Amino acid sequence: MEKGKLKAYIVTSQWNENGDLITWAESSGKAKASVINSWEFHGNDYTDLRAKRIKDFDKYADSKKVPIEELLKRGWWFYCGGFCGTEITQDNIDAKEAFVTRRREDINDFVDGDVYCDRCKAKLEECGKW
Ligand SMILES: [Zn+2]
Repeated sequence: MEKGKLKAYIVTSQWNENGDLITWAESSGKAKASVINSWEFHGNDYTDLRAKRIKDFDKYADSKKVPIEELLKRGWWFYCGGFCGTEITQDNIDAKEAFVTRRREDINDFVDGDVYCDRCKAKLEECGKW
């Protein structure tokens, strides 16, 4: 393996309700070690974590950011960036009930982009912030 070339892993835990994490590391052990102190895995033991290779995301090793569109396509959902509590999936995007934006940066550690429901988007548009 090329030195310094990191592999993408998705780290999950059977106890975790805060969502999975994607991280880039040289091995699954290092991937788990790199997220064990994150708030998402608060209260989990190292042995609770599972790191699964996700080769499609190796190409994002440099930026360590996966475009939110790719995650939505894979069935991930995200809370609306307007903090209204709406859960947004690809279906909502397809139905034009929600929208992808890059208006905020570095909100999520490994996600490039954000999603807003139509109501929060409309509010932002009213005050010229969309
Ligand atoms: Zn919203």
